[in-house]
Amino acid sequence: MFELKNILRENIKNLKPYSSARDEFQGEASVYLDANENAFGSPLEQNYNRYPDPMQYAVKKRLSDIKGVPPRNIFLGNGSDEAIDILFRSFCNPGTDNVILVPPTYGMYEVSANINDVETRKVNLTDEYQLNMEGIAEAIDKNTKLIFICSPNNPTGNSIHREDIETLLTNFNGLVVVDEAYINFSRQKTFIQELTEYANLVVLQTLSKAWGLAALRVGMAFASEEIIEVMNKVKPPYNVNEASQQLALQALQNVEQVNQWIKETLSERDQLVLNLKAFDFVLEIYPSDANFILVKTTDAKGIYNFLVSHGIIVRDRSKVELCEGALRFTIGTPEENKTLLNTLKEYQA
Ligand code: PMP
Repeated sequence: MFELKNILRENIKNLKPYSSARDEFQGEASVYLDANENAFGSPLEQNYNRYPDPMQYAVKKRLSDIKGVPPRNIFLGNGSDEAIDILFRSFCNPGTDNVILVPPTYGMYEVSANINDVETRKVNLTDEYQLNMEGIAEAIDKNTKLIFICSPNNPTGNSIHREDIETLLTNFNGLVVVDEAYINFSRQKTFIQELTEYANLVVLQTLSKAWGLAALRVGMAFASEEIIEVMNKVKPPYNVNEASQQLALQALQNVEQVNQWIKETLSERDQLVLNLKAFDFVLEIYPSDANFILVKTTDAKGIYNFLVSHGIIVRDRSKVELCEGALRFTIGTPEENKTLLNTLKEYQA
């Protein structure tokens, strides 16, 4: 049986969080002399002299309307990378606890684990890039606190079978973290509607991909109110800056534009796949539910260097286990994809 108190670190359980000036007084006043800010203003057209809302309420309210999840179930971070780090710091005792990773997958889970001195137990995906459920069951012990599942997965692009994730959610007594950074490009259903079903579910999403706001650094975690409370206690008080909050709020009014880009990206992806199949050096193109494709080639390094010399940068994943010979192409604009294909024609010639 999953119980949050069983996986929470003792020091975090007892932590009295920092109480900021903005936490202590909420409401409207005419004179703010409580936070040692510069009362005159900022040397900019717009003023940023006041600390931002530590709980980012306006952004969460808008996200809540879009996602159908109450604000109390939403955590906002400086990118979802911050949410990943906070999960380690909240639930994993350095030097004792471990987490399950299922490579090939997003690299920050391992880096974050290493920073926090938390053991990683790696259970490779199968040849079909799906979960090795038996391997995972064997790797879990009483000190296993988190399992990271990226779906759609980076760098392979495929979605992980929903029933397997559900099996983990039902049977694992730690947190199952489902990273849905690329969910907007997928036909698969999100897990954020399942929060009431599973007390040990954490879903990560981000404004960095489909929403086109990578530079603002706004990531989301969706989870039970209890988990979100813990994450809020551990986060730095003002982890999402005011400019990012304002711009994110503005961008979140523009759902139609984003949906239009998603459609275009998907049709560009299909087109790119068709065109790539014609090249002799392409051995396999893996099915993708994301805004990138993993392409197995005869000469990843050669193609990579040729593209770089023509000013085109792709991601070389050929040294990653189970991705031997593979390059990862992000789907660009129609112009960019055309340039990529024309340059690959030159490579082949
Ligand atoms: N998860 C996955 C699967 C990613 O690919 C990335 C970014 N490459 C992130 C999380 C981090 O995103 P953010 O910009 O929100 O920190």
